[in-house]
Amino acid sequence: MKRLIFLVFIILTAISIAHGGRTDGQGGHRDNNNRSGLGPYHYHHGYSAHLHKNNNCPFE
Ligand SMILES: [Zn+2]
Ligand SMILES: [Zn+2]
Repeated sequence: MKRLIFLVFIILTAISIAHGGRTDGQGGHRDNNNRSGLGPYHYHHGYSAHLHKNNNCPFE
């Protein structure tokens, strides 16, 4: 059972590195495979994946 939890932890870490990492100066990044379902580009800067409509951030 401990091995299963460890495995899930490794997978989640790998996903967060692959997805949350490598954002550009605006806190956004390309999502070429559209894994978020938001299109080819979205923002993070500390939040979950989201879009900026008319340059307005829904978190700010
Ligand atoms: Zn992302
Ligand atoms: Zn934002």
